[in-house]
Amino acid sequence: QNHLASRLARHAGRTPDKVFATRPGQSDVTYAQLFAGAERMAAALLAAGLAPGDRVAVQVEKSMEALQLYIGTVLAGGIFLPLNTGYTAAELGYFLGDATPAVVVCDPARRAEIAPLAGSAAVFDLAPDGTGSLIDALPDVAGFDAVARGAGDLAAILYTSGTTGRSKGAMLSHANLASNSEMLVGYWQFTDADVLIHALPIFHTHGLFVATNVALFAGASIVFLAKFDPEAILDAMPGATAMMGVPTFYTRLLENPRLTREAASNMRLFVSGSAPMLVDTHEKWEERTGLRILERYGMTETNMNTSNPYDGERRPGTVGFPLPGVELRVMADGAEVATGEIGVIEVRGANVFQGYWQMPEKTAEELKPDGWFITGDLGIVDERGYVSIVGRSKDLIISGGFNVYPKEIEEAIDDLPGVVESAVIGVPHPDFGEAVVAVVVGEACDPSAISGALSGQLAKFKQPKHVEIVADLPRNTMGKVQKKELRDRYGQLFT
Ligand code: ATP
Ligand code: MG
Repeated sequence: QNHLASRLARHAGRTPDKVFATRPGQSDVTYAQLFAGAERMAAALLAAGLAPGDRVAVQVEKSMEALQLYIGTVLAGGIFLPLNTGYTAAELGYFLGDATPAVVVCDPARRAEIAPLAGSAAVFDLAPDGTGSLIDALPDVAGFDAVARGAGDLAAILYTSGTTGRSKGAMLSHANLASNSEMLVGYWQFTDADVLIHALPIFHTHGLFVATNVALFAGASIVFLAKFDPEAILDAMPGATAMMGVPTFYTRLLENPRLTREAASNMRLFVSGSAPMLVDTHEKWEERTGLRILERYGMTETNMNTSNPYDGERRPGTVGFPLPGVELRVMADGAEVATGEIGVIEVRGANVFQGYWQMPEKTAEELKPDGWFITGDLGIVDERGYVSIVGRSKDLIISGGFNVYPKEIEEAIDDLPGVVESAVIGVPHPDFGEAVVAVVVGEACDPSAISGALSGQLAKFKQPKHVEIVADLPRNTMGKVQKKELRDRYGQLFT
């Protein structure tokens, strides 16, 4: 028995001829075809010397074959280790050195650069069009007996996005992944009648585990899009029922006049996560489509922790309630805070990872022996139980000895006329320790008008000491604002 693979393959056995994926301009892929390919991948991995627990490090463009490689790795008893396609050779050197994989799969265009970094691993390549030496190595056999793996064995190591520092490899067990996906299918009411628009990258937890695993566990179909493209999403929407995206998907779609109530009339669910969604985006989306986006909160280390309800009130600006099986508490100075107070969010449950790969000290700091994981996110639970994320502990600003929560200032700025969005950071200041700096997107905005408007609204210590107008905020591939980069950029303003 292979704990995760048996669940992933459940519907392949029951409905082999059902379409798993439609692909614009390419042939459909049935459940039987998906798994036949995955089984051949598994056989190829074993032939390459993969043993249970070995890592398969993968940096390739999104393709059906890449998805089959994920499933094939699980079937073969390996640990799937996807890497962001944006990583440079220098970054890959760190990841491959850290992960010591037995197999490395890369894009043929980068093979010459990556092979020397692969150590003793077997190296294969896989191109965006689904060709490559990995495909050439597939044995011409049907069927594969999944390598036995238990609930506690590792299925994947996923590196965190690196928003707050160097990416850490989160070790995820078969049960971590299976339990969360199983629960989400029920919570978000996925069935085999669903057609999910899949436009997220598959090197990150959102596209790989939330979207792919939930679709497979439910026996649903996906519209498989290699990249985020508003036109392709709008083409797919009339035939789809659900979409999962990061907030930038939604803001970009709102810019497209094709997004109408009519276009979304077949859709039952829009999910957003990975980064905070502005209340304004929630409101505009509802005006345009008549549907309320369901915002949820998760992490590489934990999969999904909280979600707005499927049936109850979805509250913009919140990430909803702790999901079934997930315990959540908000802590400050070693104790739980009162309702409505800010503290660090901790979670516990079957979803919580097994620790950081090769980082025992970091694991010990953040994952307590009694199972509570310190997320590093600051949050509030209100009297109705809704959780709100107010930022990350690493982004907390301490100015003149006072705590300043960036989100409060950002919300005040975002409400001002002409402002599109903003990011508030702390930078070194000789008198205050840190000074509040606001980086604002809004072509027509004037820094002194913003400062003037805020002075009537916010306590002096919260008011930005400097307002910078920019064309856009630096974001990574998951749409997360890179505050670290902003702190580097504006770090010298007062020193
Ligand atoms: P690193 O841990 O390497 O600094 P990261 O935390 O951005 O990077 P991920 O695991 O991809 O890496 O992201 C998880 C984080 O994303 C959460 O801890 C939280 O800060 C943020 N996040 C996810 N969903 C939401 C949401 N709905 N609202 C606000 N923040 C969110
Ligand atoms: Mg993190």
